[in-house]
Amino acid sequence: MKTSFARHLLTMTFLLRASTLSALEISSLLSERGIESDSVVLGMRVTSNTGLHLASVQESIFHSGSGSGLDSGSGAGLTSASGPTLNLGTFDIQINAGATLAGNAPALAAFNRAALQWENRIADPITVKINADLASLGAGILGSTVPVLITGSYDSLRGPMVADAADEADDAIVASVPTAAGFSGLLPVGFSFTGDIVATKANLKAMGFSTALLDGIAFTTNDATIRFSTNFTFDFDNSDGVTAGQTDFETVAAHEIGHALGFFSFVDVIDPLVNAGTPDAVDVSPLDLFRFEEGTANDPATVAEFATFPRSIQPNVAANTDEIANEWRMSTGRLTGDARQASHWRDDALSGTLIGVMDPSLSTGLVELVDFPDFRALDLIGYEIIPEPGSFLLLAIGVVGIAAARRHRTR
Ligand SMILES: [Zn+2]
Repeated sequence: MKTSFARHLLTMTFLLRASTLSALEISSLLSERGIESDSVVLGMRVTSNTGLHLASVQESIFHSGSGSGLDSGSGAGLTSASGPTLNLGTFDIQINAGATLAGNAPALAAFNRAALQWENRIADPITVKINADLASLGAGILGSTVPVLITGSYDSLRGPMVADAADEADDAIVASVPTAAGFSGLLPVGFSFTGDIVATKANLKAMGFSTALLDGIAFTTNDATIRFSTNFTFDFDNSDGVTAGQTDFETVAAHEIGHALGFFSFVDVIDPLVNAGTPDAVDVSPLDLFRFEEGTANDPATVAEFATFPRSIQPNVAANTDEIANEWRMSTGRLTGDARQASHWRDDALSGTLIGVMDPSLSTGLVELVDFPDFRALDLIGYEIIPEPGSFLLLAIGVVGIAAARRHRTR
């Protein structure tokens, strides 16, 4: 498999072209409406004649001042803090700390514990490099991530994603992600698809693309840049609980790392464009290939429907990350949806159900852990998640039961 990647990729010639919307333009659109420009920022886009682009999406975890207290901690069957350390020593997150973070030993230690939550259950033999520091961010923003994003034509990325999952029995659903010829998606009026998929550089490493190749395309060995706000009082050690009124730094770090690894939706690119009344041609993310409407005729119930139903790439439309065996609600857009970036689970502050660490907000005094849905989402888009599929399936079955019960309660 890797040989064919190399052969394919070596034939690529990389050219550059500008994006239709620059980061500055989008920031301007947002700031004109008095909304923090952190919501979505598309950076410079670089494109090759084989359909490769480079772009960046910035996201933020929003501080919820409501103190919902809904983080029950009941656990959806799997919490990363429990059990033995499973790190095989193959997957590594390297943190390149900026001056402020490097000078804050408790913060750096908390960041490393957050990285370990992911490292303990990811087995891909890759190194993910993250630049991180503390900085003054916008009001209400705890942290932000700018992943390095690389785009290829739909089938050139869908193929490796499917191949990557082929050796995992519990990932059979991935083979039913349609090829470009069979793909359809629901978009707001005026929008169209470019025919490309955007993935984080880290995600592409997990799919099996060589680090050297990706570093060359991106002109950097870095995979993402994470910033934590200096405008909040963080608790850097949650081992003794989180001090009332303070925010758990490790939770924010684990969340931002999830985005760096690949948890994002192109709905967050569409949302400000809808808000601005400027439809455009858009890409989709790997996670978007599992994004379907919730509770409509377009909500798949079978593998056959998963293979053929349109993906939901629309803000302000109830949607799930749906693999048939499980479905988890997603947020629907910062500006035109439920006021949360769509690259997140549905906010527990709205639903009463905490799905995982990719929840869009965090109340003071609470810890959220990387949980089964978070790992599962990455599993589907190209990561190798341990424990092995057999035991993983048993865990998944337990979660299905819990999820069904929760749906029942919330309806
Ligand atoms: Zn986020």
